[in-house]
Amino acid sequence: SSTAAATNAQQKQQPMGTKGASLPPLPRSQVAEHQRSLPIWPARAALLDAVKANRTLVLVGETGSGKTTQLTQYLYQAGYAGTLEKPQTIACTQPRRVAAISVAKRVAQEVGCWLGDKVGYTVRFDDCSSERTRIKYMTDGMLLREAMSDDTHALEQYSVIVLDEAHERTLHTDVLFAVVKDLQRKRQDLRVIVMSATLDAQQFAAYFDDARVVYVAGRQFPVDTFYLSKSTTDYVDAAFVAVLQLHQDEPLPGDALVFLTGQDEIEAVARMLNGASRHLPMTAAKLLVCTVYAALPSHQQMLVFDPPPAGTRKIVLATNIAETSITIPGIKFVIDPGLVKARIHNPRTGSDLLEVIPVSKAQARQRAGRAGRDAPGKCYRLYTEQTFNETLEDVTQPEIKRCNMASAVLSLKALGVRDLQNFDFMDKPPRDALIAALEHNYALGALGDDGELTELGRQMSEFPLEPALAKALIAAATGTESNSNGSNSASQLANGAGASSSATAKQTPSVRDSAMVEVDSRTLAKTRPAVAQNATTSALRRQPCVSEMIDIVSMLSTENIFFTPSDKREQAEAARAPFRAPEGDHITLFNVFKAYLKAKGDAEWCRSHFLNQRSMAAAESVRKQLRGLCTRLGLALDSCGEHDRFSVRYALLCGFASKTAVLQPDNSYRTTTSHETVHIHPSSVLFQQRPPPHCVLFNELVMTSKTYMRDVTVVDQHWLAEAAPRLFSSK
Ligand code: ADP
Ligand code: MG
Repeated sequence: SSTAAATNAQQKQQPMGTKGASLPPLPRSQVAEHQRSLPIWPARAALLDAVKANRTLVLVGETGSGKTTQLTQYLYQAGYAGTLEKPQTIACTQPRRVAAISVAKRVAQEVGCWLGDKVGYTVRFDDCSSERTRIKYMTDGMLLREAMSDDTHALEQYSVIVLDEAHERTLHTDVLFAVVKDLQRKRQDLRVIVMSATLDAQQFAAYFDDARVVYVAGRQFPVDTFYLSKSTTDYVDAAFVAVLQLHQDEPLPGDALVFLTGQDEIEAVARMLNGASRHLPMTAAKLLVCTVYAALPSHQQMLVFDPPPAGTRKIVLATNIAETSITIPGIKFVIDPGLVKARIHNPRTGSDLLEVIPVSKAQARQRAGRAGRDAPGKCYRLYTEQTFNETLEDVTQPEIKRCNMASAVLSLKALGVRDLQNFDFMDKPPRDALIAALEHNYALGALGDDGELTELGRQMSEFPLEPALAKALIAAATGTESNSNGSNSASQLANGAGASSSATAKQTPSVRDSAMVEVDSRTLAKTRPAVAQNATTSALRRQPCVSEMIDIVSMLSTENIFFTPSDKREQAEAARAPFRAPEGDHITLFNVFKAYLKAKGDAEWCRSHFLNQRSMAAAESVRKQLRGLCTRLGLALDSCGEHDRFSVRYALLCGFASKTAVLQPDNSYRTTTSHETVHIHPSSVLFQQRPPPHCVLFNELVMTSKTYMRDVTVVDQHWLAEAAPRLFSSK
């Protein structure tokens, strides 16, 4: 049962310089041996028969049994990739980009081709596929995008769509379920395979009109589970201590997997462990710390699959991705703080919060199972048994029940779905969330009074971005002059295409489509606070600033730009001081990016300015993609010039008017549309600004001890009515 590890042991991984570079192919005999050792192998023939006989199939198999890496290859070998005259592609969707990339790499290696050739991947801002690609791993979000950009919305190029990790029930997967199910009515030839790692497959089968369910017998050794006797508040430290403890007590071989919630935590624990490993006795086994999280470049992700050198224990610090998406050989110990980072949406206030929440019992069991893949293992839960029994939910709630629907609604509208309320979702989104999403898109001008997509909305849907960011980008394409004479189509677009001009004057705008969702016209009227409009606002000349906005959006799309070691906080602040903009974090991010580009991404320059070079490189790649996309969509890459900060902030406000807050007498802030009390995040350049700015826009809210606004920029309250006429009326 250790074939996978053995296969891996003999494989020499070469460092890869560029994204998309392939790993050296594995020797054929090794590949064959590995493939035959997987639990899915004996089911191969039966599986292919089942695919042939059923248009929809649900495949259930324990994590690590070979579903993701093998099924696509079986399908390919069985002729599902079309013919020479009419080649087709087998698509396999993943909720996470990291998983899509790492699995595609692995499969390319097994198939023995260049990545992007026969086997490829497509994730947001990174497309490593070609017309020769027959097996394509992609994020579920990207398949949704492809369906949107395809005129017939029929995804004709795909013969089989494999919806992987269905048990995760991400928003995109749920939306795809509905889209694909609908598509099957039009396309008799389309095969759909839903894959899940958990046994409750009946819900999937029932949803897909009693689809056939096939089980692959798993291979699972017993795992002993241990709990803390007393709960802890510092799980990061507890995880660190637990690693050192087991390293001391347990013989080799036996690697450990630690579940943490994000990059910050992972890097902190990595530093602590690397520090501690220098003080291990000479005779003790060494520690090799590996990390896996979304922002890590994929060639570094692949390092976790390498077996550790003799006399060394590998410690893998990972986010939730290691729960089911990827299987790392050799893991015998799991350390589980029982937490996961999730984006929680509050439809009442319209805000999104990034929160660390407890996992479900099902997730905790899944995590523990990772220790029993190759041999009996142990799982250390960093909480009490009572917490497990009494606090944890049984199963994770589907994202569609708790997520912001704004982006999904825009996508579905672009796919031509009129009646969202009665759309055939597996679980219906809460009505409030649907209404909030419709209102948000309406406020941005993406939907007209009839609730249907406007030309602006159509253009916004072309961007793989949150509606607010897409709107800001499009708004950045317009300047003041074109706005006043109204002859420029981009300017009309930015204001919501025709429909908006009437909406400005209209006192009770409505997104009314009774078949869709009834939004009471008064709801919108009520949520339209009156704000003073300064007569001079329109006198200010706005310049097109797409170039600047792309840079800002690229930076916002990238996590962990700044690197601040806790013992060098002041040094880091000083090094980054030249970037600080009094206008706020967005302009500061822009300054950082500009300086980075000027320094040509130099590693030493990044280090000395306490910037994460990897993150910066990621932002640069996003920038490249967005510039290409804007050009294709006809948005000129204009720059407003070095000194014009007004144009950029105004365009941002066009997207973020619903995320604005006004200073209160006690120095807290109150959001303009939902009236929540919020504060400027300590990481913001505006945190210490005195006097505090009167009115700000923000990118997101994070909740720790208080509700904080993150990425904050100063705006003028007087701009609100003009920037978002559907949200604010002028008084
Ligand atoms: P499932 O989808 O059923 O969870 P996978 O197809 O992802 O299973 O994995 C099957 C096996 O392939 C696992 O044992 C895993 O360890 C191995 N594997 C997957 N990716 C890699 C890789 N990059 N390097 C080495 N082994 C891998
Ligand atoms: Mg899988």
